[in-house]
Amino acid sequence: MADVEVEVDCPHCGGRINLGTNASGAFDCPLCNEQFEWNSDAPSFLDILFEMGFWIGALAPFLLACSVIVLGLMIAGDGWGFLAWALVSVVLWPVVSLAIGLYGYVAARVPLMFGGLVSLAVSIGFYLLFWAVVAVSNL
Ligand SMILES: [Zn+2]
Repeated sequence: MADVEVEVDCPHCGGRINLGTNASGAFDCPLCNEQFEWNSDAPSFLDILFEMGFWIGALAPFLLACSVIVLGLMIAGDGWGFLAWALVSVVLWPVVSLAIGLYGYVAARVPLMFGGLVSLAVSIGFYLLFWAVVAVSNL
């Protein structure tokens, strides 16, 4: 995270207070002497986007699914055998996304967790789209 001066409104008197850089924890308001908590540890969404872990979590399951498809094409060709590989890839994407999301949650690695969840959401959206196309083409 970048070193930025943290300015907040006091929850008691509403006065503008400068907490200095990388402020977190308990503070005494210099205006009303009331104490309040401020935690700058929670990263913003923008911070998360700049974290490598987010992109690893978001892209790794997709790339893995793609490489399984490519591997299936090379080994099985485009016959029935390929369907098994495609099926593995179809299952692998959301499962790996979920595993990364859970790992990020357990290990308190927020960017990784968000990456996995984004990947999971994209994979679900992708399959909904896929089945919608299948349904429409069978009409
Ligand atoms: Zn105050």
